Amino acid sequence: MSSPSTQQDWLELKNTLVYQDKAWIDGQYHTAAGGKTYTVTNPATGEVIVNMAACQEADVDLAVACAKRTFEAGTWSMASPAHRKEVLKNLAALIRQHTDELALLESLNMGKPVADAVSIDIPGSAACIEWYAEAIDKIYGDVAPTDSNNIATITREPVGVVGAVVPWNFPLDIAVWKLAPALVTGNSVVLKPAEESPHTVLKLAELAKEAGLPDGVLNIVTGVGAVTGQALGLHYDVDCLVFTGSTATGKRFLKYSAESNMKQVWPETGGKSPNLIFADCDLDKAVAGAINGIFFNQGEVCSANSRILVDNKIKAEFVEAFVKAAEKLVLGDPLDPQTQVGAIIDTAQVERMLAAIERAKEQGAKLVLGGKTDASKRFLYPTIFDQVTSSMDVAIEEIFGPVAAILGFDSEEEAIDIANNSIYGLAASVWSNDLSRVYRVSRRLRAGTVSVNTVDALDFSTPFGGYKQSGFGRDLSLYALDKFTQLKTTWIKLS
Ligand code: NAD
Repeated sequence: MSSPSTQQDWLELKNTLVYQDKAWIDGQYHTAAGGKTYTVTNPATGEVIVNMAACQEADVDLAVACAKRTFEAGTWSMASPAHRKEVLKNLAALIRQHTDELALLESLNMGKPVADAVSIDIPGSAACIEWYAEAIDKIYGDVAPTDSNNIATITREPVGVVGAVVPWNFPLDIAVWKLAPALVTGNSVVLKPAEESPHTVLKLAELAKEAGLPDGVLNIVTGVGAVTGQALGLHYDVDCLVFTGSTATGKRFLKYSAESNMKQVWPETGGKSPNLIFADCDLDKAVAGAINGIFFNQGEVCSANSRILVDNKIKAEFVEAFVKAAEKLVLGDPLDPQTQVGAIIDTAQVERMLAAIERAKEQGAKLVLGGKTDASKRFLYPTIFDQVTSSMDVAIEEIFGPVAAILGFDSEEEAIDIANNSIYGLAASVWSNDLSRVYRVSRRLRAGTVSVNTVDALDFSTPFGGYKQSGFGRDLSLYALDKFTQLKTTWIKLS
């Protein structure tokens, strides 16, 4: 069948889908202990998709034991880099072959426009796996500068059992950001997807088996955070726990580690990223960038540019153009390829966002666009507040939705102060045509990524992660390998 190109095509494909409802342990589907389940629903319609296996502590124990056994057996952990490269390249190719099915599952699980899943999430996942696969047989160890009576080598070894806990906003992409470097370096993995969005990683596990990954190297435990996630965080045989999600849950994982085996924990957490727009920028490009920076993926992006800081000299002009552009965004059925703004993850999140909007109004911010839902109360229109100040909640709290807060500034110094006035430090953007200014300002912004004359600059070749309470450690790039490997010194005394 040719790729779907209309809403009708996607609906027809949807009718043929088979939804998995079990966890994946030791290369096969697994029913949770006691037959426990929880409900996965389609955020755009409220339809129940499946009653999914809710893994309990016993299931997590089983998955971890399986990961430990396969790691110690060495079939994967001691395999040559060339072999691991081949298997992961096979997996990337299989993902590409299944783009439509994966994109549809991604959209049905979390409400994002299927067109974005087809063009961004799924090809991005395949490319990420391929990037790490291509890298792994080009990495060398070191020889230390000892005297000539000794040789000391420094080599990277896999950590062992990696637990990975991921959120729902980019279910496949963020899982792959953890899985690709973890698997390519020889670890065994137990992954817990967000409860809302388990389907694409379950399909990925099936494809990994088909690609040649030995059973038990990749295990998926579906379930709720406070049970399945906690059991993984507290497990004594998990050697490293990589996490993406909220700052509050990231802190829990640090605690779980302290209460159990001091496993390494690498949290990638929340954000309230500033977008600094100086008067000397190209305004049309800055407006287009700001739209993408806050409304892409319904604003459900950790690095969303939710605080827009604009030079007061051009603020009125910016606000007018920004509102006009936001009005044009098409909100609607995620399966309609024309849709640009899909459904919010669940109705509780919609209620939370509406409460944040009411609070912003009460605190004196001026609502200039949106602030309301559609009739189904599952979609939130792009929302823009002007006349925001740093002390208002809308400038402080992560809303994780399509809500932009515009703040004015009069000087470069003031812009930097406002930008850095946050507990978060994930990303920032700067718009200016003055090279000295962009470099000066970028150096002083306390954020893991500064995008200049663009937003959310991201590539497999560059590290991604936060300063301050946006977490630590980095996803992507060769730097991510630091999380999934440990250094081994082997000292040989020559006779
Ligand atoms: P969340 O913290 O609620 O959940 C993330 C994961 O943790 C899920 O798998 C969930 O089941 C699990 N979890 C929840 N409570 C748990 C507990 N008590 N013990 C163990 N595990 C638990 O976050 P979310 O709502 O899924 O995602 C939104 C958040 O993720 C936002 O704050 C966003 O900024 C952040 N995020 C960060 C990045 C990044 O790279 N820094 C990327 C995407 C999302």
